[in-house]
Amino acid sequence: MRFSDIIGHEKLKQQLIKLSNEGRVSHAVLFCEEPGYGALALALAFAQYNSCPHKKGEDSCGTCPTCNKFRKMIHPDLHFAVPVSATKKITADKKPVTDMFIDEWRRVVSANPEISEQEWYDTIGIDNKQGIIGVNEAGQILKKLNFRAFEGGDKYMIIWLPERMNQEAANKLLKLIEEPPAGTYIFMVTQAPERIITTILSRCQIVRVMPIEQEILARHLEEESGLSAEDALLWSKISSGSLSRAREMISSDIEAGEDHEILIKLLDACSSKDMTRVIQVWERLATFNREKQKDFCYYTLEFLRELYITSLGLNEIANIPLHRRDVVATWVKKIKPAFYQKSYDVMNNALKDIERNVNSKYIFADVSNRFFLSL
Ligand SMILES: [Zn+2]
Repeated sequence: MRFSDIIGHEKLKQQLIKLSNEGRVSHAVLFCEEPGYGALALALAFAQYNSCPHKKGEDSCGTCPTCNKFRKMIHPDLHFAVPVSATKKITADKKPVTDMFIDEWRRVVSANPEISEQEWYDTIGIDNKQGIIGVNEAGQILKKLNFRAFEGGDKYMIIWLPERMNQEAANKLLKLIEEPPAGTYIFMVTQAPERIITTILSRCQIVRVMPIEQEILARHLEEESGLSAEDALLWSKISSGSLSRAREMISSDIEAGEDHEILIKLLDACSSKDMTRVIQVWERLATFNREKQKDFCYYTLEFLRELYITSLGLNEIANIPLHRRDVVATWVKKIKPAFYQKSYDVMNNALKDIERNVNSKYIFADVSNRFFLSL
């Protein structure tokens, strides 16, 4: 990972480069971020920059053997500790540690350094459990950092989500973090610094990773997802500078295409008092599985929000993607103000009924009837 591979954060990159060039890199650095800002990528690029023997002042060279091994995350002096748990393959009695999942880790992080905690758990298949960095992992960390470096340079230990470290592991690592062996760097990447014990926190140099700059993120989304400049800026704005959140929002907007089509059909049938078409719509909704039914309800709530905010003349903060603005403008004119509160309650009640396993036909017949009467 080179600094130039990372979107935004130009100022922070310059600060890290300066620290490295002046030989002032602390032996324990804690990168703090919100998910999707890119802190793991920054930690990796920082380690690579420090290690590259041919760095050019503003970045690692990217082509020397050291850089190549860092890029593939296979450098023998680059270690990882990340939250894990027992899986079907690696059962609890095998005492799961990061090394047992290292191939998966390298694969997913190379493809997506903004990986979320849940995506990681899904990758290794720990189902609904939460991973931890436990005492066995702490033992491995100590062992690895006390070896001499394989390639004679410095050693790096990247600890991803140290907030998942349990007390026992933290106690075991305290002394190491306070006084790491010579030529050893521990870079931690946290999304919840308030959950890290203070004795560890106080021994680290803190690097605050800020949201990705709005315009830069927008430009990236425009290229990556083929969006219009205007939509890209909108997603950049409402994702609050998080690349992973923006990607999630864009893909759920694309997935909402079918929900949008059904909702418009329902609104249209209700307002033209065409009961036959209304029945067709709710019969179709009743065939969906529960998750899809909930998605439809959430999409309807979001569309109602967009209509309502627009009806108040607050288009600036309505945050409506470009492709939906015409249809919103059309429906705002047709809807009476009282409809918003009523339909909002109807959809929230439908969500509760879906949770309670009420018969789907009944739920959506009721939703449709209430829309029919109030539109
Ligand atoms: Zn290099």
